[in-house]
Amino acid sequence: MHVHQIYTNSHLRNFTYLLDDGEGSIYCVDPYTDTLVLNYLDQLNGKLKAVINTHEHGDHIGGNTGLKKATNCEIWAHENAEGKIDSIDRYLKGNELIKLGDTYQLKVLDTPGHTFAHLCLMLMKGYSPEAIFTGDTLFNAGVGNCHNGGNPEILFETIHHQFQNLSDEVLVYPGHDYLENNLRFTIDREPSNLTAAELLATENKQCDATFLITNMELERDINTFLRLDNEEIKNKLSSDELNKKQVFLKLRELRNKW
Ligand SMILES: [Zn+2]
Repeated sequence: MHVHQIYTNSHLRNFTYLLDDGEGSIYCVDPYTDTLVLNYLDQLNGKLKAVINTHEHGDHIGGNTGLKKATNCEIWAHENAEGKIDSIDRYLKGNELIKLGDTYQLKVLDTPGHTFAHLCLMLMKGYSPEAIFTGDTLFNAGVGNCHNGGNPEILFETIHHQFQNLSDEVLVYPGHDYLENNLRFTIDREPSNLTAAELLATENKQCDATFLITNMELERDINTFLRLDNEEIKNKLSSDELNKKQVFLKLRELRNKW
């Protein structure tokens, strides 16, 4: 299984992903444009079997129609995306398993919060999780907003129940590159977070074409939204004792204006 992370150079800093099973089938997660994906496919040996959209926002489905026309691939999306994404061939449900070749499979996670038709995809070797495609739910050092059809309380439930305790080694492949700005937010909320400060320093030195792939172990160190028990973060928010959900909601509010 080879995961190709494609940076789209879009103003929203989108990522598109190609998953090549090495047995002739390729799957595309969140095509920003068709041309970008078609150019990339030219360099690979395999046929595009399906586009999988994490959710219905335009910057995650922009390539759907063109790719279907050019390659006859199928379009797969969340069952709640009916009427929100055109020409869906297969509606996906939470916990569904999709075989990718002989060894790998994708597990569909129903992850509402950013929108209510949002899914994430867990890449597993057999039943062992290796990576997660998180769309606009979990970002590197942050989480998605809830401005366009979402709800922050539901996003909290999703992050808390489905992401907080994922295994350390699971790689995180988000829908956008917001790492640098998110690290600045982490450091603003938790000035003593040295891991975030060191990472920001190395990020500043890197050129724009290289992107850090984090794993859940690192996310739990640098992602404020996974550090809801941290005393420094809590004390900066309020002198009252806040529960995890209250901390999350206050952080989401602050991040909206960041
Ligand atoms: Zn979105």
